[in-house]
Amino acid sequence: MRGHHEDAQRRSSPVASFAHKHNLLGCRSWPTIRGVHWFNCAVLAASSSIGLYGALYVHVRRETAVFSVAYFFFSMIAGYHRLYSHRSYQAAYPLQIFLLLAGASAVQGSCLWWARLHRSHHRYTDTEKDPYNSNRGLFWTHIGWMMFRSDTRAGGVDATDLQKDELVKWQHEQYLWIAVFWGIVLPAVLPGLLWGDWMGGLCFACAARMTMEHHSTFCINSVAHYLGDAPYDDRHTPRDNLASAILTMGEGYHNFHHQFPMDYRNAFRWYQYDPTKWFIAALECVGLTRQLRRFPSNEIRKSAFAMSVKRLKKEQDGIGWEVRGSDLEVVEWAVFQEESKTRILILVSGFVHDVTDFVDEHPGGSALLTTSSGKDMTSAFFGGVYEHSNSAHNVRIPTHGPRFFCSVRWI
Ligand SMILES: [Zn+2]
Ligand SMILES: [Zn+2]
Repeated sequence: MRGHHEDAQRRSSPVASFAHKHNLLGCRSWPTIRGVHWFNCAVLAASSSIGLYGALYVHVRRETAVFSVAYFFFSMIAGYHRLYSHRSYQAAYPLQIFLLLAGASAVQGSCLWWARLHRSHHRYTDTEKDPYNSNRGLFWTHIGWMMFRSDTRAGGVDATDLQKDELVKWQHEQYLWIAVFWGIVLPAVLPGLLWGDWMGGLCFACAARMTMEHHSTFCINSVAHYLGDAPYDDRHTPRDNLASAILTMGEGYHNFHHQFPMDYRNAFRWYQYDPTKWFIAALECVGLTRQLRRFPSNEIRKSAFAMSVKRLKKEQDGIGWEVRGSDLEVVEWAVFQEESKTRILILVSGFVHDVTDFVDEHPGGSALLTTSSGKDMTSAFFGGVYEHSNSAHNVRIPTHGPRFFCSVRWI
């Protein structure tokens, strides 16, 4: 299967063959390349090149900088992602229009196309039907899937709610013109019209802002599946991480999000960085959003608890525990008495411990042990004489070690 895949990779193009041979950008895990999405590449290359030119050669005016940052936040994906992909809240009609225009201004495809792919990503996470399958490597999930044609197909999902939505349909049909106006023309010319900064408008508000917008969103599919912890479920790749939350406008608590995708929050604690969550909650106060969906805290705690138990179990399995009580021989009291005459044996909680070699090291003194041979010391061990520490309790557990060797169990 792998050989077939590699042959296909070599047949695709000399560039793909070279990249595959040297595993450039981890491309051995890429699907077979069938061509290049030239339009996507042109948009990505043009916006980043103009933005870079501006950063190197164009003076940054304060008004333009503020406008660019504000426009960046305006283009956030509160609509594409949390409203349309996950239906995690309801928005008033004017806000729906605003969110569809704002989403288009990020120049990342129509809402219908974007949300359908995103639903597929959630439904088939980390599989061949996942359009951003993390097994294909960081580069592919970040930008490779946008740049290259391949045989991969996103798994089918139900998007009938979106197909019936008149506004979503309108945005999908008119996407090109909406994106050109709101994503390119308006941010590029407003700084020129308002304070005469034509170059700043083109380089910063349009190109650099769009580049940041692209990579911020791309990071959700790439970095947010590589970097961080899995506090709710570690069977898939999504991870929680503050750095990726900052990079992605709060989408970086991705482990939480994949567990509770219908929740309007990506991070359920109020102080965790998630400006999109704050934006949606603030609009609820003025009546523009409603029915914000929150997964019950108790269910979230259950997931976190189950994950903690799993981690502890893994840790437990890595520790060299001693034999189980059920594996030990069961002996009569008389046998215990007889044996304790030849070596120092004490009984604690029904288990006989050979403490002959431990006598001189016993913190409570050797006499206490030598005079206790053949006796049930359970109550003394658990506080009658001295309440032993946790480590003493652990050491007490039947062991094959040189000091404590529990050979028999008494009934
Ligand atoms: Zn994801
Ligand atoms: Zn999502």
